[in-house]
Amino acid sequence: MTKEIYFRNLEQFGYGPNVMKKTKVCPKCGQIAKKGSFFCRSCGAFLTRETLYDHYRKQHRCCPECDTVLAADSHYCPNCGSKTQLNVV
Ligand SMILES: [Zn+2]
Ligand SMILES: [Zn+2]
Repeated sequence: MTKEIYFRNLEQFGYGPNVMKKTKVCPKCGQIAKKGSFFCRSCGAFLTRETLYDHYRKQHRCCPECDTVLAADSHYCPNCGSKTQLNVV
């Protein structure tokens, strides 16, 4: 599997940084919304400017080189192969 195909698969499932930057999530019901929308189509809650990407960056580790979201235990970025820093005690 080449890097390109792998990355495209990630985007299809919504995990590519480019996709996440265009996506918001309703804070109330979790409905996915487009970046440009201001209200949730499902429950009508007001959506902040925060995108799914911003949200992920707070909760997950991201590659310092390419901003790909990393699995909690990954030692290397799946996108660019950079070594990522784990907090070693
Ligand atoms: Zn909602
Ligand atoms: Zn990377």
